[in-house]
Amino acid sequence: MIRVRFWGTRGSIASPGRATQRYGGNTPCVEVVGFQMGEPGAAVRSDNPHLILDGGTGLATLQTTLMSGPWGRGQGELHLLLSHYHWDHLIGIPFFRPMFVKGNRIVFYGSSIEDLRSSIERLFTSVYSPLKGAENVAADLKYRQVEPDGMDVAGFQVRAAENRHLGTALSFRLQYGAHVVCYTPDHESGDREVDAKLVALARGAQLWILEAQYTAEERRGRDSWGHNSHLQAVRLALEAGVGMVVLFHHDPAHDDGILDRMGLEASEMAAGTRTQVLMARDGMVVDVE
Ligand SMILES: [Zn+2]
Ligand SMILES: [Zn+2]
Repeated sequence: MIRVRFWGTRGSIASPGRATQRYGGNTPCVEVVGFQMGEPGAAVRSDNPHLILDGGTGLATLQTTLMSGPWGRGQGELHLLLSHYHWDHLIGIPFFRPMFVKGNRIVFYGSSIEDLRSSIERLFTSVYSPLKGAENVAADLKYRQVEPDGMDVAGFQVRAAENRHLGTALSFRLQYGAHVVCYTPDHESGDREVDAKLVALARGAQLWILEAQYTAEERRGRDSWGHNSHLQAVRLALEAGVGMVVLFHHDPAHDDGILDRMGLEASEMAAGTRTQVLMARDGMVVDVE
């Protein structure tokens, strides 16, 4: 099975506070772990297939569990796939403690090796970081360019396709055994060719984690802002026929009540189909079995 844990589900900027306490306010970070049959619920060991999607502020809460394992002893290997380099998807990285333990190996993946390397290294330059340079990060850092047609990452078969966003942003399809999870942050539906590629990428997935930042009304006034409405997201999920769609990258201005309503409307739209709709929450776990 694949266990998916949502550590950050908010788009654009972290939004903690009473109005968002049920859904949470951390920016994108999703942990994906593969389990062999017969070990559901097992604790994550360093030899389980294990990767992290995006490095938003959710990374700060994930690190606590990692530091109690091999990553706290300098014996961990971590694979971090970055959809793109907008701040909301990177901002947890300068504060990510496994990077400061000698012996750990951290591999970053992104759409262009130059952009990937410079985006990460820039976070540690002296204007931003007391470390005064990525060369002073204790862990061994590696950079790999995503191969869209397929590559092995930490035991997962990974494919990628480009979203429609402001600059290059990627969707990932992760396969482990017979199980498939697809991840699409930061995408604006409307370009038929791009949408068709994403639907093809997600087809057959049991779970699609899909960007749904705006209400339908907000979306109407925000052409080319690079984000879906919740209804556009459900439309894509129904087209791909996925088992479950989890809507995420919530707008920072949306309180729990608005997200409840969006979830209801999205579920109504998918009623009578085979696709189940869930709203992502920080801390939520979905097992794909
Ligand atoms: Zn974003
Ligand atoms: Zn973005």
